[in-house]
Amino acid sequence: MNSRIAALFHQSYSGKLLSQPTKIERMQTLNDLNHDLHCHSNQSDGILSPEELVSRAKSKGVEVLALTDHDSTAGIARAQAQAKLEGMTVIAGIEFSSDWCGRGVHVVGLNVDLDAAALKEAEQQQENRRNQRATTIAERLEKVGVKNSLEGAQAYADSGVLGRPHFARFLVEQGYVSNVNQAFKRYLGAGKPGDVKNMWPDVGEVVGWIRDSGGVPVLAHPMKYTMTRSKLCKLIEDFTEAGGQAMEVISGAQAANVTGDLANIVCKYSLAASCGSDFHVPDQPWQELGRFGRLPEKVQPVWELF
Ligand SMILES: [Zn+2]
Ligand SMILES: [Zn+2]
Repeated sequence: MNSRIAALFHQSYSGKLLSQPTKIERMQTLNDLNHDLHCHSNQSDGILSPEELVSRAKSKGVEVLALTDHDSTAGIARAQAQAKLEGMTVIAGIEFSSDWCGRGVHVVGLNVDLDAAALKEAEQQQENRRNQRATTIAERLEKVGVKNSLEGAQAYADSGVLGRPHFARFLVEQGYVSNVNQAFKRYLGAGKPGDVKNMWPDVGEVVGWIRDSGGVPVLAHPMKYTMTRSKLCKLIEDFTEAGGQAMEVISGAQAANVTGDLANIVCKYSLAASCGSDFHVPDQPWQELGRFGRLPEKVQPVWELF
């Protein structure tokens, strides 16, 4: 990349323009960069700290990284501070859990304003939902003889995002079961006392939160929902109608025909296209940071909307 364009690029992302690049210059520059716009740190269910995550992304050739922890932007400031040291860009992101016709659907918000009141309110609401669910799980476990599991599980959830894996570890620690698999089999899995569903907000409401926070709503990993084609199209129609603006055309390492198919869909619905690894832990090569194909030429990359 030529150095004038590179300088312009970093200025345009940081919002401090010294001289104005033309729109074409800016887009050509952005399109040349390796974007990974979906990953997780230990501020949700990832393993690496925000700093470690950014360093790893840099070492894998990522130039623009969006940190998108579940229902939380707690790691963004740390990731951005590390990015400054490493000479790369971190976009403020989040991945909201939502409900669409009784199914769990994830919506990524990219380039959100961390100071937006709507964002803070949304994060608080989601945390309340998780806490409410954890309380119900603990009450049900109490009924089958497991005492103080809420406090016990909390001890394992230092990031504050409490879930069934934390209850599982508590059950092992207390000797109710000998391993985490058994904890799910006997206490937490489908049909067991601790199988409590989360009551997530409707997908349209989540899209509204992201728009109100100045961000771009992106329908995450559409192939993970294993919906029929007509169901998926209905979801995309509802998402678009609510103000959704983009969809992940690439989610980690995937077959070329899947990318082509999803590219056709975003073109059909006039959505922009996003790409990301959905990285959580270092030992899953199909989710490695920055290691996936390029977006097809015919789609509009989501960074044009930032
Ligand atoms: Zn997800
Ligand atoms: Zn994710």
